[in-house]
Amino acid sequence: MNIYPEFEVLRNDSRCIRCRVCERQCANEVHWFDADGKLMLSDESKCVNCQRCVTLCPTRALKIVKSDCRLRENANYTDQTIKEIYRQAETGGVLLSSMGNPNPLPVYWDKILINASQVTNPPIDPLREPMETRVFLGKKPEHIRRNADGSLDTKLAPQLTLSMPVMFSAMSYGSISYNAHASLARAATALGIYYNTGEGGLHEDFYQYGKNTIVQVASGRFGVHKDYLEAGAAIEIKMGQGAKPGIGGHLPGTKAVGDVSKTRMIPEGSDAISPAPHHDIYSIEDLRQLVYSLKEATEYRLPVIVKVAAVHNIAAIASGIARSGADIIAIDGFRGGTGAAPTRIRDNVGIPIELALAAVDKRLRDEGIRNNVSIVCGGSIRSAADVVKAIALGADACYIATAACLAMGCHLCRSCHTGKCNWGIATQRPDLVKRLNPDIGSERLINLMNAWRHEIKELMGGMGINSIEALRGNRLMLRGVGLTEKELEILGISHAGE
Ligand code: SF4
Ligand code: SF4
Repeated sequence: MNIYPEFEVLRNDSRCIRCRVCERQCANEVHWFDADGKLMLSDESKCVNCQRCVTLCPTRALKIVKSDCRLRENANYTDQTIKEIYRQAETGGVLLSSMGNPNPLPVYWDKILINASQVTNPPIDPLREPMETRVFLGKKPEHIRRNADGSLDTKLAPQLTLSMPVMFSAMSYGSISYNAHASLARAATALGIYYNTGEGGLHEDFYQYGKNTIVQVASGRFGVHKDYLEAGAAIEIKMGQGAKPGIGGHLPGTKAVGDVSKTRMIPEGSDAISPAPHHDIYSIEDLRQLVYSLKEATEYRLPVIVKVAAVHNIAAIASGIARSGADIIAIDGFRGGTGAAPTRIRDNVGIPIELALAAVDKRLRDEGIRNNVSIVCGGSIRSAADVVKAIALGADACYIATAACLAMGCHLCRSCHTGKCNWGIATQRPDLVKRLNPDIGSERLINLMNAWRHEIKELMGGMGINSIEALRGNRLMLRGVGLTEKELEILGISHAGE
Protein backbone atom coordinates (compact mmCIF):
# COMPACT_ATOMS: atom_id res chain seq x y z
CA MET A 1 0.00 0.00 0.00
CA ASN A 2 1.42 3.34 -0.97
CA ILE A 3 1.34 5.59 2.09
CA TYR A 4 2.56 9.15 2.14
CA PRO A 5 6.03 9.22 3.79
CA GLU A 6 6.49 10.29 7.40
CA PHE A 7 9.15 12.87 6.52
CA GLU A 8 9.60 15.32 3.66
CA VAL A 9 12.95 16.38 2.23
CA LEU A 10 12.92 20.10 1.48
CA ARG A 11 15.79 21.06 -0.82
CA ASN A 12 16.43 24.70 -1.64
CA ASP A 13 17.52 24.37 -5.27
CA SER A 14 18.90 27.89 -5.38
CA ARG A 15 21.38 26.87 -2.65
CA CYS A 16 22.14 23.34 -3.83
CA ILE A 17 25.52 23.15 -5.60
CA ARG A 18 25.00 19.49 -6.68
CA CYS A 19 28.00 18.38 -4.63
CA ARG A 20 26.21 15.03 -3.97
CA VAL A 21 27.40 14.89 -0.36
CA CYS A 22 23.87 13.98 0.71
CA GLU A 23 23.81 11.12 -1.79
CA ARG A 24 27.12 9.71 -0.54
CA GLN A 25 26.26 10.13 3.13
CA CYS A 26 22.82 8.53 3.16
CA ALA A 27 22.89 4.77 3.84
CA ASN A 28 19.15 4.69 3.16
CA GLU A 29 19.66 5.89 -0.41
CA VAL A 30 17.22 8.79 -0.12
CA HIS A 31 19.10 11.18 -2.43
CA TRP A 32 20.29 10.75 -5.99
CA PHE A 33 21.54 12.87 -8.85
CA ASP A 34 19.44 13.10 -11.98
CA ALA A 35 22.11 13.65 -14.67
CA ASP A 36 19.57 14.56 -17.35
CA GLY A 37 17.91 17.28 -15.35
CA LYS A 38 21.14 18.11 -13.48
CA LEU A 39 19.07 17.98 -10.31
CA MET A 40 19.28 16.32 -6.91
CA LEU A 41 16.15 14.25 -6.22
CA SER A 42 14.90 12.36 -3.17
CA ASP A 43 12.88 9.27 -2.33
CA GLU A 44 11.32 10.44 0.91
CA SER A 45 9.77 7.08 1.65
CA LYS A 46 13.25 5.85 2.69
CA CYS A 47 14.04 8.81 4.97
CA VAL A 48 14.34 8.11 8.73
CA ASN A 49 15.21 11.71 9.63
CA CYS A 50 18.69 10.89 10.94
CA GLN A 51 19.76 14.42 9.94
CA ARG A 52 23.08 13.25 8.47
CA CYS A 53 22.49 15.02 5.13
CA VAL A 54 21.18 18.15 6.83
CA THR A 55 24.26 18.33 9.05
CA LEU A 56 26.79 17.78 6.26
CA CYS A 57 25.19 19.76 3.43
CA PRO A 58 27.78 22.51 2.83
CA THR A 59 25.23 25.13 1.76
CA ARG A 60 22.39 24.44 4.21
CA ALA A 61 20.20 23.58 1.28
CA LEU A 62 18.40 20.73 3.06
CA LYS A 63 15.68 20.51 5.64
CA ILE A 64 13.81 17.37 6.77
CA VAL A 65 10.37 18.07 8.17
CA LYS A 66 7.68 15.84 9.58
CA SER A 67 4.96 15.48 7.03
CA ASP A 68 1.63 17.07 7.92
CA CYS A 69 -0.14 14.79 5.49
CA ARG A 70 -2.10 12.49 7.79
CA LEU A 71 -4.43 9.62 7.29
CA ARG A 72 -8.03 10.18 8.41
CA GLU A 73 -7.14 9.69 12.08
CA ASN A 74 -9.25 10.13 15.19
CA ALA A 75 -8.60 10.00 18.91
CA ASN A 76 -8.90 6.21 18.87
CA TYR A 77 -7.17 5.32 15.59
CA THR A 78 -4.17 7.60 15.19
CA ASP A 79 -2.18 8.01 11.98
CA GLN A 80 0.51 5.78 13.51
CA THR A 81 -1.92 3.03 14.55
CA ILE A 82 -3.51 2.87 11.12
CA LYS A 83 -0.11 2.71 9.39
CA GLU A 84 1.06 -0.07 11.71
CA ILE A 85 -2.04 -2.14 10.90
CA TYR A 86 -1.39 -1.62 7.18
CA ARG A 87 2.23 -2.73 7.60
CA GLN A 88 1.30 -5.85 9.51
CA ALA A 89 -1.47 -6.69 7.06
CA GLU A 90 1.18 -6.58 4.34
CA THR A 91 4.00 -8.46 6.05
CA GLY A 92 2.34 -10.67 8.67
CA GLY A 93 5.30 -9.82 10.90
CA VAL A 94 6.01 -8.50 14.36
CA LEU A 95 6.81 -4.77 14.28
CA LEU A 96 10.39 -4.01 15.24
CA SER A 97 11.68 -0.77 16.74
CA SER A 98 14.70 0.60 18.45
CA MET A 99 15.57 3.07 21.20
CA GLY A 100 13.16 3.58 24.11
CA ASN A 101 9.42 3.89 24.55
CA PRO A 102 8.43 7.17 22.85
CA ASN A 103 4.84 7.34 24.13
CA PRO A 104 3.60 10.31 26.20
CA LEU A 105 3.44 8.40 29.48
CA PRO A 106 4.41 10.35 32.62
CA VAL A 107 8.09 11.21 33.02
CA TYR A 108 8.27 11.44 36.79
CA TRP A 109 11.70 13.06 36.75
CA ASP A 110 9.98 16.13 35.28
CA LYS A 111 7.38 16.16 38.06
CA ILE A 112 9.96 16.08 40.85
CA LEU A 113 11.71 19.23 42.05
CA ILE A 114 14.92 19.52 44.05
CA ASN A 115 15.36 21.49 47.26
CA ALA A 116 17.85 24.32 47.85
CA SER A 117 19.18 25.70 51.13
CA GLN A 118 18.16 29.16 52.30
CA VAL A 119 19.05 31.09 55.48
CA THR A 120 19.63 28.51 58.23
CA ASN A 121 21.30 25.70 56.31
CA PRO A 122 23.69 27.45 53.97
CA PRO A 123 24.48 26.17 50.48
CA ILE A 124 27.97 24.93 49.68
CA ASP A 125 30.02 26.49 46.89
CA PRO A 126 31.37 23.55 44.88
CA LEU A 127 34.13 25.68 43.36
CA ARG A 128 35.62 26.56 46.74
CA GLU A 129 34.72 23.70 49.02
CA PRO A 130 35.38 19.95 48.72
CA MET A 131 32.56 17.95 47.23
CA GLU A 132 32.68 14.13 47.10
CA THR A 133 31.20 12.54 43.97
CA ARG A 134 32.92 9.17 44.36
CA VAL A 135 30.76 6.14 45.04
CA PHE A 136 31.56 2.55 45.89
CA LEU A 137 29.23 -0.14 44.59
CA GLY A 138 28.96 -3.46 46.37
CA LYS A 139 27.91 -5.01 49.66
CA LYS A 140 28.59 -2.85 52.71
CA PRO A 141 29.26 -4.30 56.15
CA GLU A 142 26.89 -3.35 58.99
CA HIS A 143 29.87 -2.33 61.14
CA ILE A 144 33.50 -1.58 60.44
CA ARG A 145 36.23 -2.74 62.81
CA ARG A 146 39.66 -1.20 62.83
CA ASN A 147 42.96 -2.46 64.18
CA ALA A 148 44.90 -0.54 66.81
CA ASP A 149 46.97 1.15 64.08
CA GLY A 150 43.77 2.39 62.40
CA SER A 151 43.93 -0.05 59.50
CA LEU A 152 40.76 -1.83 58.46
CA ASP A 153 40.15 -5.15 60.19
CA THR A 154 36.79 -5.85 58.54
CA LYS A 155 37.15 -7.67 55.24
CA LEU A 156 35.16 -5.78 52.63
CA ALA A 157 33.29 -7.45 49.79
CA PRO A 158 34.66 -6.48 46.35
CA GLN A 159 33.61 -2.98 45.33
CA LEU A 160 33.47 -0.94 42.14
CA THR A 161 34.89 2.54 42.62
CA LEU A 162 33.32 5.27 40.48
CA SER A 163 34.63 8.83 40.33
CA MET A 164 31.02 9.96 39.81
CA PRO A 165 27.69 8.15 40.11
CA VAL A 166 27.19 7.46 36.40
CA MET A 167 28.26 4.51 34.21
CA PHE A 168 27.74 3.54 30.58
CA SER A 169 25.07 0.88 30.36
CA ALA A 170 25.19 -2.39 28.43
CA MET A 171 25.45 -2.07 24.66
CA SER A 172 26.75 -5.15 22.90
CA TYR A 173 29.45 -5.26 20.28
CA GLY A 174 27.22 -6.18 17.39
CA SER A 175 24.35 -3.92 18.28
CA ILE A 176 26.86 -1.05 18.29
CA SER A 177 30.05 -0.70 16.30
CA TYR A 178 33.69 -1.32 17.14
CA ASN A 179 34.32 2.43 17.15
CA ALA A 180 31.39 3.08 19.48
CA HIS A 181 32.76 0.45 21.86
CA ALA A 182 36.23 1.93 21.62
CA SER A 183 34.80 5.39 22.44
CA LEU A 184 32.95 4.07 25.50
CA ALA A 185 35.91 2.02 26.75
CA ARG A 186 38.38 4.88 26.43
CA ALA A 187 36.02 7.40 28.01
CA ALA A 188 35.20 5.12 30.94
CA THR A 189 38.91 4.58 31.56
CA ALA A 190 39.73 8.29 31.41
CA LEU A 191 36.81 9.17 33.68
CA GLY A 192 37.34 6.43 36.28
CA ILE A 193 33.91 4.89 35.68
CA TYR A 194 32.74 1.74 33.84
CA TYR A 195 31.28 0.72 30.51
CA ASN A 196 29.43 -2.53 29.92
CA THR A 197 30.02 -5.14 27.19
CA GLY A 198 26.35 -6.10 26.91
CA GLU A 199 25.72 -9.63 25.79
CA GLY A 200 28.08 -9.72 22.83
CA GLY A 201 31.35 -10.76 24.46
CA LEU A 202 34.51 -8.67 24.57
CA HIS A 203 36.58 -7.95 21.46
CA GLU A 204 40.21 -8.89 22.09
CA ASP A 205 41.29 -5.28 21.46
CA PHE A 206 39.30 -4.13 24.50
CA TYR A 207 40.81 -6.44 27.12
CA GLN A 208 43.23 -3.60 27.86
CA TYR A 209 40.28 -1.60 29.31
CA GLY A 210 39.26 -4.47 31.62
CA LYS A 211 39.68 -2.44 34.84
CA ASN A 212 36.85 -0.20 33.63
CA THR A 213 34.73 -2.90 32.02
CA ILE A 214 31.63 -4.69 33.28
CA VAL A 215 31.28 -8.00 31.46
CA GLN A 216 27.77 -9.24 30.95
CA VAL A 217 26.41 -12.79 31.09
CA ALA A 218 23.04 -13.03 29.35
CA SER A 219 20.81 -16.00 28.63
CA GLY A 220 22.50 -16.68 25.26
CA ARG A 221 25.96 -16.84 26.94
CA PHE A 222 27.47 -15.36 23.78
CA GLY A 223 31.21 -14.81 24.10
CA VAL A 224 31.30 -16.03 27.71
CA HIS A 225 34.43 -17.93 28.75
CA LYS A 226 36.87 -17.85 31.66
CA ASP A 227 39.20 -15.22 30.21
CA TYR A 228 36.21 -13.00 29.44
CA LEU A 229 34.89 -13.24 32.99
CA GLU A 230 38.31 -12.55 34.45
CA ALA A 231 38.93 -9.60 32.14
CA GLY A 232 36.32 -7.33 33.72
CA ALA A 233 36.00 -5.42 36.97
CA ALA A 234 32.50 -6.81 37.61
CA ILE A 235 30.16 -9.38 36.09
CA GLU A 236 26.57 -8.52 35.25
CA ILE A 237 23.92 -11.22 34.93
CA LYS A 238 21.25 -9.87 32.60
CA MET A 239 17.87 -11.21 33.63
CA GLY A 240 15.92 -8.49 31.89
CA GLN A 241 16.09 -5.21 30.00
CA GLY A 242 13.78 -2.23 30.39
CA ALA A 243 13.10 -1.84 26.67
CA LYS A 244 11.93 -5.43 26.31
CA PRO A 245 11.05 -7.09 29.62
CA GLY A 246 10.15 -10.73 29.42
CA ILE A 247 11.84 -11.47 26.12
CA GLY A 248 15.40 -12.24 25.05
CA GLY A 249 17.80 -10.43 22.78
CA HIS A 250 18.04 -10.54 19.01
CA LEU A 251 20.98 -9.56 16.85
CA PRO A 252 20.05 -10.00 13.17
CA GLY A 253 22.44 -12.19 11.14
CA THR A 254 23.28 -9.20 8.95
CA LYS A 255 25.02 -7.64 11.96
CA ALA A 256 26.71 -10.89 13.12
CA VAL A 257 29.64 -10.51 10.74
CA GLY A 258 33.45 -10.60 10.98
CA ASP A 259 34.77 -9.90 14.45
CA VAL A 260 31.23 -9.70 15.86
CA SER A 261 30.59 -13.39 15.12
CA LYS A 262 34.10 -14.31 16.32
CA THR A 263 33.63 -12.40 19.59
CA ARG A 264 30.18 -13.93 20.15
CA MET A 265 31.51 -17.38 19.21
CA ILE A 266 28.70 -17.94 16.69
CA PRO A 267 28.77 -18.69 12.94
CA GLU A 268 28.96 -15.68 10.67
CA GLY A 269 25.59 -14.47 9.40
CA SER A 270 23.53 -16.43 11.94
CA ASP A 271 20.92 -14.62 14.02
CA ALA A 272 22.10 -14.32 17.64
CA ILE A 273 18.94 -14.97 19.63
CA SER A 274 19.20 -15.11 23.39
CA PRO A 275 16.23 -16.89 24.96
CA ALA A 276 13.78 -15.08 27.22
CA PRO A 277 14.72 -17.08 30.33
CA HIS A 278 18.12 -18.31 31.44
CA HIS A 279 17.44 -22.01 31.03
CA ASP A 280 19.14 -22.71 34.35
CA ILE A 281 17.25 -20.08 36.37
CA TYR A 282 13.69 -20.61 37.55
CA SER A 283 14.00 -19.42 41.15
CA ILE A 284 16.06 -17.20 43.43
CA GLU A 285 17.94 -20.34 44.49
CA ASP A 286 18.88 -20.98 40.84
CA LEU A 287 19.98 -17.35 40.48
CA ARG A 288 22.07 -17.78 43.63
CA GLN A 289 23.80 -20.75 42.04
CA LEU A 290 24.78 -18.71 39.00
CA VAL A 291 25.90 -15.77 41.17
CA TYR A 292 28.17 -18.07 43.18
CA SER A 293 29.37 -19.99 40.10
CA LEU A 294 30.56 -16.70 38.63
CA LYS A 295 32.14 -15.64 41.93
CA GLU A 296 33.85 -19.03 42.21
CA ALA A 297 35.10 -18.80 38.61
CA THR A 298 36.72 -15.47 39.40
CA GLU A 299 37.96 -16.37 42.90
CA TYR A 300 35.54 -14.00 44.64
CA ARG A 301 37.46 -10.97 43.33
CA LEU A 302 34.61 -9.39 41.37
CA PRO A 303 31.25 -7.99 42.42
CA VAL A 304 28.27 -9.56 40.65
CA ILE A 305 25.47 -7.38 39.34
CA VAL A 306 22.00 -8.73 38.59
CA LYS A 307 20.15 -6.61 36.03
CA VAL A 308 16.38 -6.73 35.84
CA ALA A 309 13.72 -4.79 33.99
CA ALA A 310 11.41 -2.57 36.05
CA VAL A 311 8.15 -4.54 36.16
CA HIS A 312 5.20 -5.06 38.49
CA ASN A 313 6.29 -6.33 41.93
CA ILE A 314 9.83 -5.15 41.29
CA ALA A 315 10.35 -4.56 45.02
CA ALA A 316 9.70 -8.23 45.85
CA ILE A 317 11.93 -9.32 42.96
CA ALA A 318 14.73 -7.04 44.20
CA SER A 319 14.34 -8.39 47.70
CA GLY A 320 14.98 -11.89 46.35
CA ILE A 321 17.98 -10.71 44.35
CA ALA A 322 19.43 -8.99 47.43
CA ARG A 323 19.31 -12.38 49.16
CA SER A 324 20.82 -14.25 46.22
CA GLY A 325 24.37 -13.16 46.98
CA ALA A 326 24.42 -10.47 44.26
CA ASP A 327 26.43 -7.39 45.17
CA ILE A 328 24.59 -4.90 42.99
CA ILE A 329 21.08 -4.73 41.52
CA ALA A 330 20.63 -2.84 38.25
CA ILE A 331 17.04 -1.85 37.50
CA ASP A 332 16.20 -0.77 33.97
CA GLY A 333 13.07 1.32 33.41
CA PHE A 334 10.60 1.07 30.52
CA ARG A 335 12.08 4.04 28.65
CA GLY A 336 15.47 2.36 28.33
CA GLY A 337 16.92 2.17 24.84
CA THR A 338 17.68 -0.88 22.74
CA GLY A 339 19.18 -1.79 19.40
CA ALA A 340 16.08 -3.80 18.48
CA ALA A 341 12.84 -4.69 20.24
CA PRO A 342 9.34 -5.71 19.22
CA THR A 343 7.39 -2.43 19.18
CA ARG A 344 4.46 -3.77 21.20
CA ILE A 345 6.78 -4.96 23.98
CA ARG A 346 8.80 -1.75 24.01
CA ASP A 347 5.73 0.44 24.21
CA ASN A 348 3.49 -1.55 26.56
CA VAL A 349 5.56 -3.61 28.99
CA GLY A 350 7.35 -2.48 32.13
CA ILE A 351 6.99 0.44 34.52
CA PRO A 352 8.72 3.81 34.99
CA ILE A 353 12.13 3.62 36.63
CA GLU A 354 11.27 6.37 39.13
CA LEU A 355 8.47 4.32 40.73
CA ALA A 356 10.47 1.08 40.56
CA LEU A 357 13.54 2.63 42.15
CA ALA A 358 11.61 4.24 45.01
CA ALA A 359 9.72 1.00 45.69
CA VAL A 360 12.90 -1.11 45.69
CA ASP A 361 14.86 1.22 47.96
CA LYS A 362 11.98 1.37 50.45
CA ARG A 363 11.46 -2.39 50.47
CA LEU A 364 15.14 -3.15 51.03
CA ARG A 365 15.30 -0.58 53.83
CA ASP A 366 12.12 -1.92 55.46
CA GLU A 367 13.59 -5.42 55.34
CA GLY A 368 16.91 -4.25 56.77
CA ILE A 369 18.87 -5.54 53.77
CA ARG A 370 19.61 -2.29 51.95
CA ASN A 371 23.33 -2.64 52.68
CA ASN A 372 23.39 -6.12 51.12
CA VAL A 373 23.34 -4.56 47.68
CA SER A 374 23.96 -1.34 45.83
CA ILE A 375 21.26 -0.11 43.46
CA VAL A 376 22.01 1.13 39.97
CA CYS A 377 19.13 2.58 37.98
CA GLY A 378 18.81 3.20 34.27
CA GLY A 379 16.20 3.64 31.60
CA SER A 380 16.23 7.21 30.29
CA ILE A 381 18.52 9.14 32.59
CA ARG A 382 18.81 12.30 30.51
CA SER A 383 20.66 14.85 32.61
CA ALA A 384 22.55 15.59 35.82
CA ALA A 385 19.23 16.57 37.39
CA ASP A 386 17.81 13.09 36.67
CA VAL A 387 20.92 11.60 38.31
CA VAL A 388 20.52 13.74 41.43
CA LYS A 389 16.81 12.87 41.70
CA ALA A 390 17.58 9.16 41.21
CA ILE A 391 20.15 9.22 43.99
CA ALA A 392 17.78 11.05 46.33
CA LEU A 393 15.18 8.36 45.53
CA GLY A 394 17.64 5.69 46.64
CA ALA A 395 20.02 4.83 43.79
CA ASP A 396 23.76 4.49 44.39
CA ALA A 397 24.51 5.25 40.75
CA CYS A 398 22.89 5.52 37.33
CA TYR A 399 23.43 3.78 34.01
CA ILE A 400 23.18 5.82 30.82
CA ALA A 401 23.12 4.52 27.23
CA THR A 402 20.87 6.67 25.03
CA ALA A 403 22.49 9.84 26.41
CA ALA A 404 25.92 8.27 25.73
CA CYS A 405 24.88 7.49 22.14
CA LEU A 406 23.67 11.06 21.73
CA ALA A 407 27.04 12.30 22.95
CA MET A 408 28.69 10.16 20.25
CA GLY A 409 26.52 11.75 17.56
CA CYS A 410 23.28 9.71 17.57
CA HIS A 411 20.33 11.73 16.26
CA LEU A 412 17.68 9.44 17.74
CA CYS A 413 16.28 8.40 14.39
CA ARG A 414 15.19 5.09 15.94
CA SER A 415 16.57 2.98 13.12
CA CYS A 416 19.26 1.00 14.96
CA HIS A 417 17.55 -2.30 14.08
CA THR A 418 18.14 -1.70 10.37
CA GLY A 419 21.92 -1.79 10.85
CA LYS A 420 22.26 1.32 8.69
CA CYS A 421 23.15 3.91 11.32
CA ASN A 422 24.39 6.89 9.38
CA TRP A 423 26.37 8.10 12.40
CA GLY A 424 28.53 4.97 12.71
CA ILE A 425 27.11 3.85 16.06
CA ALA A 426 24.51 1.09 15.61
CA THR A 427 26.01 -0.51 12.52
CA GLN A 428 28.61 -3.02 11.39
CA ARG A 429 28.99 -1.71 7.84
CA PRO A 430 32.67 -0.71 7.58
CA ASP A 431 31.91 2.39 5.49
CA LEU A 432 29.50 3.61 8.17
CA VAL A 433 31.55 2.49 11.22
CA LYS A 434 34.46 4.70 10.18
CA ARG A 435 32.22 7.78 10.42
CA LEU A 436 32.60 7.64 14.18
CA ASN A 437 36.15 8.56 15.15
CA PRO A 438 36.83 6.98 18.59
CA ASP A 439 39.11 9.88 19.53
CA ILE A 440 36.24 12.30 19.02
CA GLY A 441 33.61 9.90 20.41
CA SER A 442 35.51 9.39 23.66
CA GLU A 443 36.29 13.10 23.98
CA ARG A 444 32.61 13.98 23.65
CA LEU A 445 31.65 11.34 26.24
CA ILE A 446 34.27 12.72 28.62
CA ASN A 447 32.98 16.25 28.06
CA LEU A 448 29.41 15.18 28.77
CA MET A 449 30.36 13.40 31.98
CA ASN A 450 32.54 16.27 33.18
CA ALA A 451 29.67 18.68 32.55
CA TRP A 452 27.28 16.43 34.48
CA ARG A 453 29.77 16.02 37.32
CA HIS A 454 29.93 19.79 37.67
CA GLU A 455 26.14 20.12 37.57
CA ILE A 456 25.74 17.35 40.14
CA LYS A 457 28.10 19.25 42.44
CA GLU A 458 26.16 22.48 41.92
CA LEU A 459 22.82 20.80 42.65
CA MET A 460 24.24 19.11 45.75
CA GLY A 461 25.89 22.32 46.88
CA GLY A 462 22.58 24.13 46.54
CA MET A 463 21.05 21.63 48.93
CA GLY A 464 23.90 22.07 51.39
CA ILE A 465 25.03 18.49 50.73
CA ASN A 466 28.66 17.71 50.03
CA SER A 467 28.68 14.02 49.15
CA ILE A 468 26.71 11.53 47.11
CA GLU A 469 26.59 9.35 50.25
CA ALA A 470 24.63 12.07 52.09
CA LEU A 471 22.25 12.50 49.16
CA ARG A 472 21.48 8.79 48.69
CA GLY A 473 17.88 8.05 49.69
CA ASN A 474 17.46 11.60 51.03
CA ARG A 475 13.89 12.03 49.81
CA LEU A 476 13.39 15.10 51.97
CA MET A 477 15.31 16.90 49.22
CA LEU A 478 12.55 16.15 46.70
CA ARG A 479 9.03 17.48 46.17
CA GLY A 480 6.41 16.41 43.64
CA VAL A 481 4.28 18.62 41.41
CA GLY A 482 1.02 17.54 39.82
CA LEU A 483 1.19 14.02 41.22
CA THR A 484 -1.58 11.98 42.84
CA GLU A 485 -1.51 10.91 46.48
CA LYS A 486 -0.71 7.36 45.35
CA GLU A 487 2.19 8.45 43.16
CA LEU A 488 3.62 10.58 45.98
CA GLU A 489 3.22 7.65 48.37
CA ILE A 490 5.12 5.27 46.07
CA LEU A 491 7.83 7.84 45.43
CA GLY A 492 7.98 8.53 49.16
CA ILE A 493 8.04 12.29 48.71
CA SER A 494 5.84 15.22 49.74
CA HIS A 495 4.02 17.56 47.40
CA ALA A 496 5.57 20.93 46.61
CA GLY A 497 4.45 23.46 49.19
CA GLU A 498 4.56 20.93 52.02
S1 SF4 B 1 24.57 18.04 0.18
FE1 SF4 B 1 23.38 19.93 -0.06
S2 SF4 B 1 24.45 21.08 -1.66
FE2 SF4 B 1 25.22 18.99 -1.78
S3 SF4 B 1 23.89 17.99 -3.29
FE3 SF4 B 1 22.94 17.58 -1.29
S4 SF4 B 1 21.46 19.25 -1.03
FE4 SF4 B 1 22.86 19.88 -2.68
S1 SF4 C 1 22.30 4.98 17.08
FE1 SF4 C 1 22.20 5.54 14.89
S2 SF4 C 1 20.47 4.36 14.07
FE2 SF4 C 1 20.29 4.33 16.30
S3 SF4 C 1 18.93 6.06 16.77
FE3 SF4 C 1 21.04 6.82 16.92
S4 SF4 C 1 21.51 7.69 14.90
FE4 SF4 C 1 19.68 6.40 14.66
